Amino acid sequence: MAEASAECNIKVLCRFRPLNQSEIIRGDKFIPMFQGDDTVSIAGKSYAFDRVFPTNTTQEQVYNTCAKQIVKDVLGGYNGTIFAYGQTASGKTHTMEGKLHDPHGMGIIPRIAEDIFNHIFAMDENLEFHIKVSYFEIYMDKIRDLLDVTKTNLAVHEDKNKVPYVKGCTERFVSSPEEVMDVIDEGKANRHVAVTNMNEHSSRSHSIFLINIKQEHVETEQKLCGKLYLVDLAGSEKVSKTGAEGSVLDEAKNINKSLSSLGNVISALAEGTKTHVPYRDSKMTRILQDSLGGNCRTTMFICCSPSSYNDQETKSTLMFGQRAK
Ligand code: ADP
Ligand code: MG
Repeated sequence: MAEASAECNIKVLCRFRPLNQSEIIRGDKFIPMFQGDDTVSIAGKSYAFDRVFPTNTTQEQVYNTCAKQIVKDVLGGYNGTIFAYGQTASGKTHTMEGKLHDPHGMGIIPRIAEDIFNHIFAMDENLEFHIKVSYFEIYMDKIRDLLDVTKTNLAVHEDKNKVPYVKGCTERFVSSPEEVMDVIDEGKANRHVAVTNMNEHSSRSHSIFLINIKQEHVETEQKLCGKLYLVDLAGSEKVSKTGAEGSVLDEAKNINKSLSSLGNVISALAEGTKTHVPYRDSKMTRILQDSLGGNCRTTMFICCSPSSYNDQETKSTLMFGQRAK
């Protein structure tokens, strides 16, 4: 294993999507003001991040600025997590996945898949790589395998080194970027089959794509492991207190709880002084435990709508991102 880094490296990046057609037709105002490359202000209040991406930023620019280095680190034996946080339709899936088979529109996950294999082909011939991926979602605190629809309630266990993992989750060995993309397509198709309204469902569940990389030197037998979690979070919007009831309210409470426990973990890590990091408060933070702490690279995308119609949600999204700073 690589040496654990002394400090936990958490980066918070903020991305604004453009106004969409219906917002333009409604006459919504474009509210963010961008200052330099790391600050945005809304209604006179400024929010600073490691980086702010204005609406015209390309997928390639986003990848090169923040995800590229993580691939190198994971190949160097570090663990990492990349999240996308934001209200529904703010650009989380666009950022994480984008258009999977379009060279310009591809988001972070397909670019990572390409990059990993490009690095490997350029590396020492005496290194043997074993790369496997898993794809699952967390809905109402239940873990569902997106590569095996019969597995609908998987449990989180710890291995002998106390590293948490999803027990029984399907793992697929992959040997090219195309194979990674096939797995993603398969998982997405399964997800569609299982639910009646995909848009609603994806806004209420967290989807998690895991890439696990093991390498071994054929002569020295020296081993190095790294893993990367890529997380498209459930929509962070508040459900109106009066309107929602029954199962919708249960879902909303559940999402709220899991997102706030994630926020608590990230802010405890960012503070760096806390001895207690509340990983055990949710399934997601338990799973991510060894990819958010010491030996890790963590990047959080804060995805925002630029429309005046969403200003309250945008402010609370920006505040969530500020907690990690
Ligand atoms: P979320 O996953 O947060 O619910 P999506 O990623 O599905 O939101 O984005 C909602 C819509 O906005 C999609 O049609 C998407 O293509 C578009 N979109 C999001 N971000 C951008 C962007 N940066 N540039 C252009 N279109 C975007
Ligand atoms: Mg989405």
